[in-house]
Amino acid sequence: MGGEVGSKLRSLLKRIDGKGYKAYKEIKGSWTYRDFTLHVDHVQGDPFAAPSRLCVEIETARAGIPAAALATPLRRRAAGDYFARAFRSAIAATVKGNRGIGKSGEVTIAAGGQEILERNAVVFTGGTLQCRFLLGLPARGRIILGLQAEEMLFDELPRLVEKGLDLQRLPPGGLERHLASAEDQDALRRALPGAGLVAFVAEEALLPRRSGIDPRPLDEGARPFVPPTDLTVELLTPHRGPVRGMGIPAGVTLIVGGGFHGKSTLLDALQAGVYNHIPGDGRECVVTIPSACKVRAEDGRAVESVDISPFISNLPTGQETVAFTTANASGSTSQAAAIIEPLEVGCRLLLLDEDTSATNFMIRDERMQELVHKDREPITPFVDKVRQLHRERDVSTILVMGGSGDYFDVADTVIMMDAYQPRNVTGQARAIASRHAARRRAEGGESFGADRHRRPRPESFDPSRGRREVKIDTPQAGTILFGRTAIDVTAVEQLVDRGQALAVGWAIHALATRCFTRGMSLSEALEELDGEFDRRGLDTLVPWRTGNLARPRPFEIAAALNRLRGIKVDS
Ligand code: ADP
Ligand code: MG
Repeated sequence: MGGEVGSKLRSLLKRIDGKGYKAYKEIKGSWTYRDFTLHVDHVQGDPFAAPSRLCVEIETARAGIPAAALATPLRRRAAGDYFARAFRSAIAATVKGNRGIGKSGEVTIAAGGQEILERNAVVFTGGTLQCRFLLGLPARGRIILGLQAEEMLFDELPRLVEKGLDLQRLPPGGLERHLASAEDQDALRRALPGAGLVAFVAEEALLPRRSGIDPRPLDEGARPFVPPTDLTVELLTPHRGPVRGMGIPAGVTLIVGGGFHGKSTLLDALQAGVYNHIPGDGRECVVTIPSACKVRAEDGRAVESVDISPFISNLPTGQETVAFTTANASGSTSQAAAIIEPLEVGCRLLLLDEDTSATNFMIRDERMQELVHKDREPITPFVDKVRQLHRERDVSTILVMGGSGDYFDVADTVIMMDAYQPRNVTGQARAIASRHAARRRAEGGESFGADRHRRPRPESFDPSRGRREVKIDTPQAGTILFGRTAIDVTAVEQLVDRGQALAVGWAIHALATRCFTRGMSLSEALEELDGEFDRRGLDTLVPWRTGNLARPRPFEIAAALNRLRGIKVDS
């Protein structure tokens, strides 16, 4: 792999050296190197602006990638994820970094964290690999440092392509391991329904993470997972063969146990199990059905026209709850909305943790029923609705609950975490429930209720900011800025990648302009967009070439849209 063939770019850089920064605009366009083409898609306006957008395009044969590695959509996605990471490692090993003021000298690629996701940092199209990255064109003051730029584009860049995109130079077997791991995880996930399961945790899995802000596996003192014998199942994978582990059956599952015994850690691993994880993560064989949604209380959030009547009715204000709207939800109303919203778009497994739930939403015991009569209490607790959800809608629940035995009556399976190890205590919990019969009255009514499909009004979405008609970004983790409106997604726990958050912002814009304009319901629109992702990839979202998107699930798009203040919907 080597330098640019015609060296026109090199002489151009020499010519603009020492000129004003705007002269960099001249390097926009495509440049032919010996082994690849460099596309300069966008040149930054000044050294402090968002860095310039570049794309290296190389023939897959030239990069040494066998056709088999790209033979299926799953492999192409996993291979893209692999090369984005390889290119990031090459940057760390090669790029000098700071070469002047602002972003001068920086090179970055959006390669993600612990999850193998479809990303558009590296994509495969018609026999070539495209690698999209950002590069800060170097300057001192507002003056072009042409020689520094020459070093970046003629010394660093070819070395980056060599080290990051040439399979022969990458660790042997690395790509194969990445692809095999993704295929095994997919196979496990697909095997769940046939085995009557909603989740699976393999023997030897490592669930704990380094910290609340570091999702890498805990390095010291992590106890590997040991499945309880009477919940052990074996699932088949194409590469690892049979994998043993704990199967969590469909229905209502309770995770109990003393504080600090690993309950939330297990649930966190399960909610992450909708995604594939990189080799070495520890959760490669922890999978959950793809429509699993973590739901939690989030007081203060906005709710737009959601039918929360299964859980909340007869508010003292007289306010309607079949189309409940608020700019400032309480703990219980936010949690009710957080359950109804994913159900509206196809969720089949709810994940709840007592740590992030509203107590009055979860339980209402016998004594409280006696003191506060049902006609004075708008809330019907989840314990009275959880079975109806399974019976009528085929929606299972996995619930962490160490603080109330009222759920023994409604659980199909009870798992106790004991010093990080699970035990099946379903029989004991049943025996206790029959010995101390709960005298609380069921308040759930005949059926679950609420089955509405909302149609968002396209004119209520405004992505404009300043002079820009569409401006969508993620100024910090946990915030999507849609036009001038900030969407707080910190409580959308299964939005795990910054690139997903950005894609979610653009997806909302796509839904508003392409689907809601045709009167589609939210669930119809999400299905259409997901199909569009399958056909055209993430590039369908943004009108220019980008490399910083990762694919979100429809559930996270819905979750963000539902938190967008100011939207209006019809039922
Ligand atoms: P709980 O929800 O039961 O109160 P947590 O899941 O929050 O408990 O776990 C408590 C602590 O134990 C956390 O710091 C977590 O990282 C750690 N932990 C959880 N599982 C394991 C394990 N298998 N090995 C070692 N440490 C663990
Ligand atoms: Mg906990």
